[in-house]
Amino acid sequence: MEYSEQEQVVEGKAQAVDLQDDYWHVNAGDEKVHASRIKGRFRTYKWLTASLWLFYFFGPYVRWDGHQAVLFDIVNRKFHIFSITLWPQDVWMLSLALIFLALTLFVTTAIAGRIFCGYFCFQTVWTDVFTFIEDKLEGPPSKRRKLDAAPWTGRKILIKIVKHTLWIVIAVLTGVTFGAYFADAHWLWVQYLTLKAPLVAWLTLLFFVVCTYVFAGFMREQVCFWLCPYARIQGVMYDPETILPTYDKKRAEPRSRLKKGQKSEDFGDCVDCNLCVAVCPTGIDLRHGQQEGCITCGLCIDACDSIMDKVNRPKGLIRYASLDEMEGKPKVKLFTRPRVIIYVSVLFVAFTGILYGLMNLGAMSVSVLHERQPLFVRLSDGSIQNKYIIKVVNKAERKLNVSIDVEGLEGMEMAGKKSLTSIPKGKVLPITVFLKVPLSTLTKSINSIFFKVSDSEDPNISSKYKSMFMGPKID
Ligand code: SF4
Ligand code: SF4
Repeated sequence: MEYSEQEQVVEGKAQAVDLQDDYWHVNAGDEKVHASRIKGRFRTYKWLTASLWLFYFFGPYVRWDGHQAVLFDIVNRKFHIFSITLWPQDVWMLSLALIFLALTLFVTTAIAGRIFCGYFCFQTVWTDVFTFIEDKLEGPPSKRRKLDAAPWTGRKILIKIVKHTLWIVIAVLTGVTFGAYFADAHWLWVQYLTLKAPLVAWLTLLFFVVCTYVFAGFMREQVCFWLCPYARIQGVMYDPETILPTYDKKRAEPRSRLKKGQKSEDFGDCVDCNLCVAVCPTGIDLRHGQQEGCITCGLCIDACDSIMDKVNRPKGLIRYASLDEMEGKPKVKLFTRPRVIIYVSVLFVAFTGILYGLMNLGAMSVSVLHERQPLFVRLSDGSIQNKYIIKVVNKAERKLNVSIDVEGLEGMEMAGKKSLTSIPKGKVLPITVFLKVPLSTLTKSINSIFFKVSDSEDPNISSKYKSMFMGPKID
């Protein structure tokens, strides 16, 4: 059987397949991987998940309520996410969101290995797009290697110029798009095109262009190996129940190309075609066991299934399976696995926190600081006075005129109270108030009171804050 790409795919090394069980191939940068591209189920999934990144490129141009739908406006210290506006006071929600995303990664890793790397990670996706361009311009791996080794001719120069230009265009678009999440996208394009962009914008663009071009164009799988921290810690999230692309050794071995006179019953199902290695973007031979460099992309499954079809053997010689499954152990239910339970529980807590935060986002937030020294003063008329600083944050898109009311104690009066206080849009205003209560009405030394701050125009914009009124010890 002849496959144009089943020849050795790793440059610089004869792929002497070592049949020892403990063989573990790690390409630490001494080889250049030219992976073949074949059609298949997992290749289609990869394109579908990769296409989600189109939202990244189109995101900054979507408008919502008169502003950019997603804008991390660092200058004005507020983040717009569609109709939600987050202020520095809400930053705890962003922390929870990051915890949520990290735990989602942990859960998916515990269940299905580095599925994020194989299908969603920007490094993998950009590398896939860059090698797709390379494949279209230079041909399949055997032609690419020949072209690389060939002397510089007009044709070779032209091909290389077109390839690198396309790579740089993608790198520039990646960089400009990133910047467009932090400044108005249309404004930013104008600034770049008229060469008037601020220095920080140029530096950000330069950083992204260099990283995208070098990481996706040249370093490729080496970024995962050398630079990615997740690749280093993924091992601790695995257990024998984690499903990963796995070679069914019992069914496959002893492998053979079945030369003339050999009987197929004497051999396993692997026909030693090497196609699973040829398509692997990280240059792994999975027949030697699950390996550190595997990004669980499933492309070797597509490759092997296509061969099994051709030799009329059942598909799934390489398939997503756990080590326990391969050893014939009974399947454990997903939500009885301790690490899945722990990750999902913390995920749920983070999600609840985010939900709570989103449901309690208002156009105004209020905090009240009670004066500590002194806790209270006794006035000449015998009444007790406490001092408070009320901090009101105006998160609305207009000026707020707020009134302050207090309740909780009989006979309580607010000294120096203004009927309305103006708070400009986007500002925080500290308002000092004094509360006075006749001593005779106090029954305890610590009393709960409630401040209510309301906008004069829109009664829905209001906030209640629980505080304390302190008095002398009451016998
Ligand atoms: S071994 Fe298979 S699943 Fe793992 S990276 Fe290579 S092609 Fe992808
Ligand atoms: S595992 Fe499948 S693709 Fe890989 S060498 Fe054997 S038959 Fe070929």
